This record gives sequence, C-alpha cells and structure tokens, in this order.
Amino acid sequence: MELGDLRRPRLGNPLSWRVSDRCYAIALLLSAITALVGLAYAAGGWPFAPPESGSADLIAFNASACTAWAVMAVVARLLRGRERAGLPLAFATVWLYALTLAAFTLFTGPFGAPGWVGFLGGAVIGYVVFPRWIALTGLAFYVAAVIVGAVVMAGGHLDGTILGQAARAVRVDHAAIVRGAVSSVLMSALTFTIIVWIVERWRDREARFARLATTDPLTAVGNRRVLFDHARRELARTRRYQAPTSLILVDLDHFKAVNDRFGHLVGDGALVHAAGVLREAVRDVDVIARYGGEEFGILLPSTDLEGACEVAERCRARLAGHAFRHGGEPITITASFGVATTAGEGDVDDLLRRADDALLRAKRLGRDRVERARAEA
Ligand code: GH3
Ligand code: MG
Ligand code: MG
Repeated sequence: MELGDLRRPRLGNPLSWRVSDRCYAIALLLSAITALVGLAYAAGGWPFAPPESGSADLIAFNASACTAWAVMAVVARLLRGRERAGLPLAFATVWLYALTLAAFTLFTGPFGAPGWVGFLGGAVIGYVVFPRWIALTGLAFYVAAVIVGAVVMAGGHLDGTILGQAARAVRVDHAAIVRGAVSSVLMSALTFTIIVWIVERWRDREARFARLATTDPLTAVGNRRVLFDHARRELARTRRYQAPTSLILVDLDHFKAVNDRFGHLVGDGALVHAAGVLREAVRDVDVIARYGGEEFGILLPSTDLEGACEVAERCRARLAGHAFRHGGEPITITASFGVATTAGEGDVDDLLRRADDALLRAKRLGRDRVERARAEA
C-alpha cells in the first residue's frame, strides 16, 4: 500500500455514495445520537428535558427512536446497491427523521430552540444528500406534524401522557400555537430558500468544473481523461459480461499542410469541423474524445470488430464527403482510422497500442482508410 492510499480514507466522497449507503450512514448516525441522548436523560445530564416530565418516558422515547433508526440501518444495509431501492429508502430516511424530530420537538416544547436546531441540520443535510423534492416533503410533514401535535396537546387530549405533561410544562395554549405556527412556516420558508440558493449555486459551480475537467476546450468533445476513464470502465464490463469493447483511433491526414497553407486559426476551425462530423456519425452511447493534437479516439461499448469497422468506415466517408468551408473555399479533410476490439484480455494500454498499430498501417497504406488490428495475443 502506498502512502497516498493510507492518507486517503477508503470511504471516498459521501456525496458520490449510492443513496442506500447515504441512508445507511445517516441511520447509523441517528441511532447513535438517539442512544446518546437517551443515556444523557438517564444520567440527568441532558439540558432539554421539560421540567415536569418523567425521565423514564423520555428514555423510552429515545429507546424507540434508536430502535427505529437501527432497523432503518439494517434495512438500508440489506438493500445496499439495489438501484430501485434508492428512492424508497431516501423517502423512508427523510420521513423517519421528520417524524422523530417532530416528536422530539413536541416533547421539548413545540417551536422551541432544540427543535429548530434539529430542523436546520436536517434541512441542510436532507437537501444536499437526497433529491430536493424528497427533502421538501419531509420538511412540510415536520412543520404540519408539529402544528397538529401542538393543537392536540393544547386541547388537553393528551393529559395523562408524557406529551400532556410537556404541554403543561411549556404552557402550550392556542395563542402560542398561532404565534409558533406562523413563525415556523415563515422561518422554514426563509431557511429553505437560503439553503436552496446556496446549494444550487454550489451545484452549478461543481457542474461547470466537471465540464471543464472533461471537455476539450477547442472541439467540445471529451478530453483524454474521459476516454481513459470510460475505457477502463468498459473493459471492466467487458470482462464481467463478455460484451466486446472497441476503440477507433482517428488521425487527420496531412493536417500540418492545412495549417501551413491556411494558418493555424483556419486549422483550428477545421479541427472543430472534423470533431463535429465524427460526433454526428457515432451513437450517443459511444464516447468521442480528442486524444491528441489532431487525433481523436472513439470508444464503442458492446461493439465487436465488424461493427466498429462499419462505424469507422461511416466516419471516414462522412469526413471525406463533407469539406470544411473556409471563405467559400472547400478544404477537404480526410483521416486515417485504426480499429481494435477486446474481449476482456489485456488492459486499456494494450487496446490503445493495437488500435495505434492499425492506424499507422492505415497511414502507411495511403491514408483516408480504415485498418483493423490483429486479434489479441
Ligand atoms: P499525417 O497524415 O501523417 O498524420 O500528417 P500530419 O501532418 O497530420 O501529421 P503531423 O503529426 O506531422 O502533424 C500534425 C499537425 O497537427 C501538426 C500540428 O500543427 C497540427 N495540430 C495539432 N494540434 C493542433 C491544433 O490544436 N490546432 C491546429 N490548428 N493544428 C494542430
Ligand atoms: Mg497525429
Ligand atoms: Mg495527422
């Protein structure tokens, strides 16, 4: 193991985790928190206990919440990695949080500070970690549950229960509920607007950086990194599912002459033109990237050598047939193509080397043609 591996925890970035893993982590965290709060009540060291309530009830409440979160953690763990379980799990996690926080808020006095702390933390984490509309439903449910709960408490319907005691202790009456409900709705609208505003800007910036890091600035196709990342991923799939992966390397012919004759700016325009023609000629699932100066790579998932050669031939014909126009003057751009396929043996470098050999052969044999690599050793 290298030092880099030691320093970087193997957990990765939680924002890139699968939804089931996020639910699992949150459920574990909340079962730990509710267990700790329960223990603190038991030890008499928790500051937010309503004065007249029996600590046995609060301990029982925290024990139930802790159990609910532990069950949630087990379920999330069992459903780990199941794509279709992601959304229901996110829902369950957000709503269980809203429910347990609403109960906690009612215990500690509706619309009081402890509830607000949990609400703010939950809203921020929920909005960042889960789809925003799920976080929104949890928020609406929480506010509604606290208001309805407070009305029921003030009506004396819960006398004789722990909530009835809490209601007396913090003097929940109808005037207090109206004040609390109005301020809660206003505060949550304000809080959520601020969170949405900040997080959306942050997401935009992240998306812009991601685009910059993966796009070739001149031609707007992918860059080398994209090609290599996809190639590694596709090779792993090929090994697992026995579906071949093909790679086409494209090198524009005599491109130096285009620059020499028309200048670099026109050369740049011709490169953009060629990239556009190639992109139009391949499927959406194929990955096209600028591999070098006037070289492109096209990765074709689940495509055998025959299929890849057909694609390369189509690209070649379209490029040769669609001249780049410079001030009315047509400049015909042609390219040479090297095609290689892998059935899972070898790595990305092997695939690249074989495609490159084929490309060199295409150049040697006169350019504007497609050559296929020999089978893997
Ligand atoms: P061949 O058919 O053998 O590939 O000939 P070629 O002239 O294309 O090959 P060579 O490798 O000798 O030259 C590549 C040329 O591509 C030289 C370089 O100026 C040009 N080139 C590379 N990147 C860019 C670019 O970003 N813009 C422009 N305008 N030209 C570029
Ligand atoms: Mg070249
Ligand atoms: Mg060239």
